[in-house]
Amino acid sequence: MEHPENDSKFAGLAVNSGVEQPPSVNPYMKARRRRRLLSAGEYVEGILRGDITILSQAVTLVESHNPEHEAVAQEVIEKCLPHSGNSIRIGITGVPGAGKSTSIDVFGLHVLKQGGKLAVLAIDPSSERSKGSILGDKTRMEKLSVHPDAFIRPSPSAGSLGGVARKTRETIVLCEAAGFDKIFVETVGVGQSETAVHSMVDFFLLIQLAGTGDELQGIKRGIMEMADGIVINKADGDNVDRANLAATQFRNALHLFPLPPSGWAPRVLTYSGYYEIGIAEVWQMIYDYFDFVKKNGYFQEKRRQQELYWMYETINEKLRDNFYQNPAIEEMLAAKQQLVLGNKQSSFVAAHEVLDRYFTLLHSR
Ligand code: GDP
Repeated sequence: MEHPENDSKFAGLAVNSGVEQPPSVNPYMKARRRRRLLSAGEYVEGILRGDITILSQAVTLVESHNPEHEAVAQEVIEKCLPHSGNSIRIGITGVPGAGKSTSIDVFGLHVLKQGGKLAVLAIDPSSERSKGSILGDKTRMEKLSVHPDAFIRPSPSAGSLGGVARKTRETIVLCEAAGFDKIFVETVGVGQSETAVHSMVDFFLLIQLAGTGDELQGIKRGIMEMADGIVINKADGDNVDRANLAATQFRNALHLFPLPPSGWAPRVLTYSGYYEIGIAEVWQMIYDYFDFVKKNGYFQEKRRQQELYWMYETINEKLRDNFYQNPAIEEMLAAKQQLVLGNKQSSFVAAHEVLDRYFTLLHSR
């Protein structure tokens, strides 16, 4: 190619021809075909066979908002239900930095030593805000992520907490049907998500750190009340004394709570996920709990109550969606919002008018 800049009047300037760039689109690549949706029966058959690829695809289906996918997903879940339930489900919570990933990696290897299969799921309703789930990064669990008997699945992408949690719960069903007999459900200990996790697990583990002074600061009483075990992480090096002190303070605080309905008095232990100190003791506590609640019947009772909880949660979620996604209601709400903000109508009257309209719409169908 000729470069006019190379003319002698531009002395001192030399422009070389560039190198021809290859096309940015590979012409040899065939157009990717969309993956065919399997039938519900094919998914179920694959899941029961323990086929991880099909399990993953089915979980993606469960997470989908596409109505066609949802319909197949519901059928798959329904068919997997009779094969589910045979597992121990453990919720793990703690603030970011408490050491959840490090601990789950170590806990996971510990439980897998005795055989079986482990699924690690997560509930992180904030994942859309933080762009890319904080709980989604598989490399956080380095050893588990390459373990042949572990299945790690990040949180379903954001939606309402109820929706995200329901999907995780449905994923538990699929994992159990695929032969996973140990389920960890991880959540960030910062808000409402604990309640959701608590309502889908058998044992709820709260990971804490020894703080500086006021150990109980920032821990919501409600979260402590939910815990079946509190473990103080990072009890290593010169942090051991502080961890022990924190443990004592937690034990004292727990004494003030009434005994939970399980009859199990929550225990407090210290450990180090990073240095793998005290891991067996943490798990002995968890196994003791399962022995205890299986003997006194609470294990089954709690699972039954959880079924009811999720029935109502699902109803609430569907009602809410149906209401807020109705175009006439959306429009009316926008108008009412202005009235309420402008002090022209009370929130109570506005709410009733919108609800009346909704019920009229329902009846006129
Ligand atoms: P997460 O946010 O709760 O998942 O916490 P991580 O597992 O990512 O851990 C947060 C930080 O604490 C990392 O830098 C870890 O290396 C460190 N950490 C985790 N467990 C321990 C432990 O037992 N002892 C010490 N000293 N550090 C730890």
